[in-house]
Amino acid sequence: MKGYWGKIAEVDLSNRRVEIKEIEYDILKKYIGGRGLGTYLYTKYVPEIDVDPLSEKNPIIIATGPLTGTPASTAGRISSTTRSPLTGTILDSNAGGMFGAPFKYSGIDAMIIVGKSEKPAYILINDGQISIEDASDLWGKGTGETTKELKSRHRAMSVISIGPAAENGVLYASVMVDGDRGFGRGGLGTVWASKKLKAIAVRGTKRPEIDSPEDFKNVHYEIIKLLKAHPITSKTLPAHGTNSLMKVINFFGMLPTRNFQMGQFEGVEKVDGEAVSKKILIKAEGCWGCPIVCGRRTRITDAEGHGPEYETAWAFGPNLMIDDLEAITKANYLCNEYGMDTITFGGTLAYAMEATERGIHDFGIKFGDAEKLVEYAKLTALKEDVGAELALGSKRLAQKYGGEEFAMNVKGLELPAYDPRGSFGMALVYSTSNRGACHLRGGYSVGFEELGVPRRINRFAVAGKGTHVARSQDIGAFYDSAILCRFTSFAVSMDNWARLVSAVLGETFTAADLEKAGERIHNLERLINLKLGFDKKDDTLPRRLLKEALKEGPSKDRLIPFDDLLREYYEYRGWDENGVPTSEKIKELGLEDDVKWL
Ligand code: SF4
Repeated sequence: MKGYWGKIAEVDLSNRRVEIKEIEYDILKKYIGGRGLGTYLYTKYVPEIDVDPLSEKNPIIIATGPLTGTPASTAGRISSTTRSPLTGTILDSNAGGMFGAPFKYSGIDAMIIVGKSEKPAYILINDGQISIEDASDLWGKGTGETTKELKSRHRAMSVISIGPAAENGVLYASVMVDGDRGFGRGGLGTVWASKKLKAIAVRGTKRPEIDSPEDFKNVHYEIIKLLKAHPITSKTLPAHGTNSLMKVINFFGMLPTRNFQMGQFEGVEKVDGEAVSKKILIKAEGCWGCPIVCGRRTRITDAEGHGPEYETAWAFGPNLMIDDLEAITKANYLCNEYGMDTITFGGTLAYAMEATERGIHDFGIKFGDAEKLVEYAKLTALKEDVGAELALGSKRLAQKYGGEEFAMNVKGLELPAYDPRGSFGMALVYSTSNRGACHLRGGYSVGFEELGVPRRINRFAVAGKGTHVARSQDIGAFYDSAILCRFTSFAVSMDNWARLVSAVLGETFTAADLEKAGERIHNLERLINLKLGFDKKDDTLPRRLLKEALKEGPSKDRLIPFDDLLREYYEYRGWDENGVPTSEKIKELGLEDDVKWL
């Protein structure tokens, strides 16, 4: 088998058993790897589909893709799938950094972790030898500290770990790669902690075989040329990182400000990408095999660390009315070390600030309070005082205290940094993403609505939007399954990737084949969510976005024609009027045998 090993490690933490199992090429090909393979394996390990996310039955699947560990640009990422304790949906998450390649070099394509350890444990993968080790001395340590310890103990090439936020049961705890890149969203870290799994350390030296190294070299040469030629991947991202977006999104009047009450932030120049470059940047840093290098290594008065990237700078900045870059960065470092999703933490704080301001419940924090942002990051990760409440996320707090109209989440996942009232495609992106409000899983219409890539489409248009968003979701599902960085899509076409995958696997794939695989994966996730009780009523937006227009700026006075957008989206997808994939669609995607649990 080329590109894959055809091997999966099953790790049962309850009885400390490790078993290597074979997986057929046809399955790998059908679901590609990463997110697709993880979703497929979830259905095999949880045939009843519905499982308590924090029970020992909820599996954690860690998966690579066919390009992982090859010299393909950005193909060192790693993906993980489970059921989210925050949202209750199927959850996939992927992370950059250095973990993916050595994991693949250890001779397995994926790992399934089931059961629950009696005491804290970590998994050591040493070139194919897999063991479960005692992590009692690591429990309670931060992700950076854990990484440092395991790297020196085992000469590990990379470590993924949880921090105190997960151990304390924060519902949106992350898993961090070497302490600074994250599987951020949905509470993957919380699932790890429920199994008493602290970390995975990896070393690997085996290289997967490429079917045609010559073809690979030629296609990859083109890909590198494209990345070097495109202004976003060759100039903007390396110079100012993802936070170069902040000024652009503010320009369009869709930078969520004061918990989505406004679309522009007065202090934008104090916290945008250029401000980071000027005030705190030490150097740009990249993930394994990445020629773009968008990451930010930064230094503030008393610390050094990673970030802030755009979503974090926004979640702790404009959305909370904070223009203190030092405080934003410090809170970001704390979230990295404690292992906590910055978008959900920021969104939850925004809810708490507005609830306090409106007199609904006093969380003791107001918009603009930079000092408390830092203090509350710590309290939340440790679940102390008010932090025990903030650890629940905005949906649960609104259910408890009221104010659901300004708890800015979809399916329980807090919204990222784009106001859909200025970008109608984003309304569909957030409402139909399979893991809740996610700009990446939902299709990222900002690419074609604001950035004009690959071509500009009127951001307030309705006709055609459902089709564009659905296709974007399917292409995104391919990216997450081959586990390529989404930023390459500004410059590299699906045709380029199809030729590269073909060179690795020794079988011809077209761009249409890969998009179809993405559609299959998106539909499988949708069917899982339907089985879990999510349906059309959950494909929606917070009331504020549906009923209140922005009052100022370039996106003012617009109400989202949501029903029209959703209708076209369902139609394009081949789903019925309730958003359920039809039996014809299931058959067309070759899913009948894989969804017998329906
Ligand atoms: S573009 Fe940025 S996030 Fe993507 S692989 Fe490169 S360094 Fe990592």
